Amino acid sequence: MDSSAYQWEIVKKLSFCRPAGTPECERAAEMIAEEVRALGGDVTFEPFSFPGLKVDRAVLRVTEPYQKEYSAVGVGFSGEIEGDFGFRYVERGTEYDLDGVDGGIILINKLDPDHYTAAVNSKAEGFIAPSGKFYDDSPLTPKNLGRKMREIGRKPGFCVKTADAIEMVTRGASAVHCELKQHESAIDTVNVVSVIPGTEIPDEYITFSAHYDSVDVGVGAYDNATGVAALLYLYRYFMENKPKRTLIFLWCGAEERGLLGSREFVKKHPDIMEKTRFEVNFDLIGCAIGYDGVSVAAAESVCEFMRNFAAERRHSFVVSRHAASSDSTSFAGAGIPAFNFYRYGEADIHNQHDILFPLYEKTLGPTVEFVRDFVVACDQAEVPFDTAMPEDMAEEVRKYLG
Ligand SMILES: [Zn+2]
Repeated sequence: MDSSAYQWEIVKKLSFCRPAGTPECERAAEMIAEEVRALGGDVTFEPFSFPGLKVDRAVLRVTEPYQKEYSAVGVGFSGEIEGDFGFRYVERGTEYDLDGVDGGIILINKLDPDHYTAAVNSKAEGFIAPSGKFYDDSPLTPKNLGRKMREIGRKPGFCVKTADAIEMVTRGASAVHCELKQHESAIDTVNVVSVIPGTEIPDEYITFSAHYDSVDVGVGAYDNATGVAALLYLYRYFMENKPKRTLIFLWCGAEERGLLGSREFVKKHPDIMEKTRFEVNFDLIGCAIGYDGVSVAAAESVCEFMRNFAAERRHSFVVSRHAASSDSTSFAGAGIPAFNFYRYGEADIHNQHDILFPLYEKTLGPTVEFVRDFVVACDQAEVPFDTAMPEDMAEEVRKYLG
C-alpha cells in the first residue's frame, strides 16, 4: 500500500469522537497499539490522570420582565450557584461597565482570560457568556476553564448561544433564575509509546509525536487522526529502513486538555530528553485545499535550513519560527529543537465540522514523505543544524507553557 492509501485507511478508521478519558479514547489507543504490533513493534501504555469534572445540572431562566428558559452549559471548574438574581449586561466588564453592580448575574461579551478576570474580580455572584456566532444553529458544547483560567479564580458561570444572549439584551432581561451543580473527579488516560532502536548511534534519540484524542464534538478526522496516521506511516517506514539513531514514537493522550500527554511524557523521562536531538510533531494534515508548512521552535538558522531543504526538493512549504499550539512545544520546553508539521487550509477543528469530507487521501503522501526525507537527511553522524535552543525562543516557549 502506498503512503497515501496506508494513512487514509487509518484516518477513516480513527474518525470517531474520542475525548480523553472516554471508552472511545481507549479504543483509539488500542487501535494504534494493534497497528504498531501488526508492524512488528512493541507498545507501552503510559497511564496518567488529570483533573476533570462533570456538570450535573445547568439551568438558566429569565424571570423578569419575561419568562423563558434558555439552553445553557455550565462552565466547568467555575463553581456552583443556585437561586434568583438580578441580571445586567456589562460588555467588557470594565470598571465603568461594572458601576453599580453589587451581586447578581452579569452578561459579559465572551469567555476569555480578560473577560473572565473582570467577572471574577467583580461583585457579581455569577456570569453568563455567549458562545459561537449568532447564526450558529449547532448545540452548545461543554466549556471547561483551562489551567490558566482556573488560576484566575472562581466565579460560577454559564455559556449560552450568542443568539440567546442577544435576545436577553434586546428584550431587556433584568432577573434570572439559575442553577449550576458540578463535581470534580480525576480522568485517566494513556500515552502510547513505541521505540525503534538505532543501528549506529542508539544513545541519541529523535522523538515523534501526534495526539490521538479529540475534543467533544466532531469526529476529529483532521484534528488529529491525520497526524496519528502520519506517525504510523513513519513508524512503518523506519521498521523497514532502520534508523541510525533511536526513534521514540509517542501518540499523546489529552492534547486537547492542554498538551497534557506530552507534558507528562517530558516530565517523566528526563533521561530521554537529555539524549534527544530533535522532535517532530504532526497536528492537522490532509486537507484537500491547503498548504504544507512547519512551525519551528529552534534557532533562526534551523528555519533557513528547512527552507533550503524544501527549495532543493521544489516543495512549496511555509516555514515559521514560533512555539506551536501542539505537543512539540512540550519538548521545546525541555530545550529540544521542535518541529510541528501541518497542512493548513479548508478544514475545520474543534467543532462538528471536523469530518472526513474536506480531507483528501492524496495529499497525505507528499506531506509525510517530505518529512520522512527530512528526518532521514538529519539522521546522519552529525545533525546538520544548530540544536541549541536560543534564549528568545526558550522564553516564548516558557510563556506558552505557562
Ligand atoms: Zn490537534
